[in-house]
Amino acid sequence: MTDRADVVVVGGGPAGSWAARSAAQAGASVMVFEKDREIGLPVRCAEGVSSRGLEGLVTVRPSWIAREVRGAKLVAPDGTVVTACPGDTGTVLHRKVFDADLAAMAAEAGAVFLTKACVTGLLRENGAVSGVRVEHLGRIFDVAAKIVIGADGVESAVGRWAGLDTRTPPEFIASCAQATVAGLDPDPELAEFHFGSAVAPGGYAWVFPKGGRTANVGLGVPEAACRVRKPVDLLKDFLERRCPGASVLTWIAGGVPLCPPRGDIVADGLILVGDAAHQASPLTGGGILNALIAGRLAGETAAGCVRRGDVSKKALGAYVKAWMKAEGENIERDFRIKKVVYGLSDEELNGVARTLSAIPEEKRTAAEIFKAGLFKHPKLAFEMFRSFF
Ligand SMILES: Cc1cc2nc3c(=O)[nH]c(=O)nc-3n(C[C@H](O)[C@H](O)[C@H](O)COP(=O)(O)OP(=O)(O)OC[C@H]3O[C@@H](n4cnc5c(N)ncnc54)[C@H](O)[C@@H]3O)c2cc1C
Repeated sequence: MTDRADVVVVGGGPAGSWAARSAAQAGASVMVFEKDREIGLPVRCAEGVSSRGLEGLVTVRPSWIAREVRGAKLVAPDGTVVTACPGDTGTVLHRKVFDADLAAMAAEAGAVFLTKACVTGLLRENGAVSGVRVEHLGRIFDVAAKIVIGADGVESAVGRWAGLDTRTPPEFIASCAQATVAGLDPDPELAEFHFGSAVAPGGYAWVFPKGGRTANVGLGVPEAACRVRKPVDLLKDFLERRCPGASVLTWIAGGVPLCPPRGDIVADGLILVGDAAHQASPLTGGGILNALIAGRLAGETAAGCVRRGDVSKKALGAYVKAWMKAEGENIERDFRIKKVVYGLSDEELNGVARTLSAIPEEKRTAAEIFKAGLFKHPKLAFEMFRSFF
């Protein structure tokens, strides 16, 4: 390990590994610092992704797949169940294996990883970010970099250190609690989503089958709901109702930023990516695929800027432009739909579910569900219309 690199990446999650891999593939020397002792652990995630989305970004390895699901079961507050199979399948990952493999792929491309290495601050030269200070097993050392990529997750400090306002307003954070549970009977082919004020006020609860009789069971709710009841207490109630007697193998808690797209994610010598840049879908909280999309763009841009000898905020703006072009509109749309869907009352949610359950199951494609929602529920229709056009 040397004391300088073209690109230093802070954080070895999906965003960091994928940024490191693309920067290394494009010819930059890259170092990645991860504060945990093992890449991929602890897992703070329900591990669900669109199969098609994942396949479009990386060659999928069978060892990553815990379970494939063919659709979703939506459960309304009054218990009305609607199953929907929109054509695309979903994959429930083994994040521990997936994250470790992404890091290994980045290392194969030439990136150098160091775990148990916590970045504690940024170096600066003439106002620009020029490296990082690292604490590793009691030793403190500096590493110079032409560009630092902050991929340090939802609680990102890197952006703040660089003077960017990366705080997430409380109303844009979903607080989540999740248990990995054994001994329940999940439908092996469907992901479950439960809505309603008794289960997850202003959010939703999920059951993602992981194979056999295990599943990730969790929920996410906005800040306002947490002030009334803690997510972990809501989850305990949900577990009792949905899977009484099942064993809890792990508990986790974590926040997901559900924000509109943001452009202030670069500074002189610095790029933010993944949850650190609030790039998860504000509708679902899903951030794995977006972390890969943005990671690739960040790594490519970083390597190009290093090659051209211009790492200014202006030059790094090419990354922001590319990210906005790729996903900006989707994030904007999801943000608007989120505001409507999570603002629906229990009665309105029951009404939507009843409308949808009247459509024959084989016709419940995304388009049909959308149309039914539009025609029968004017409030949703109006907001959906505004979201899309
Ligand atoms: C309960 C829950 C359920 C979720 N479920 C899903 C889901 O089903 N599907 C989905 O797509 N998304 C889901 N998400 C979101 C998803 O987990 C994130 O969007 C994704 O992990 C973002 O990747 P990332 O690389 O940006 O950040 P992370 O995966 O958080 O990685 C950041 C890394 O940076 C390291 N780090 C932080 N600070 C430092 C430092 N100072 N020095 C060195 N290293 C540092 C951390 O240890 C960590 O390894 C869920 C999130 C939560 C909380």
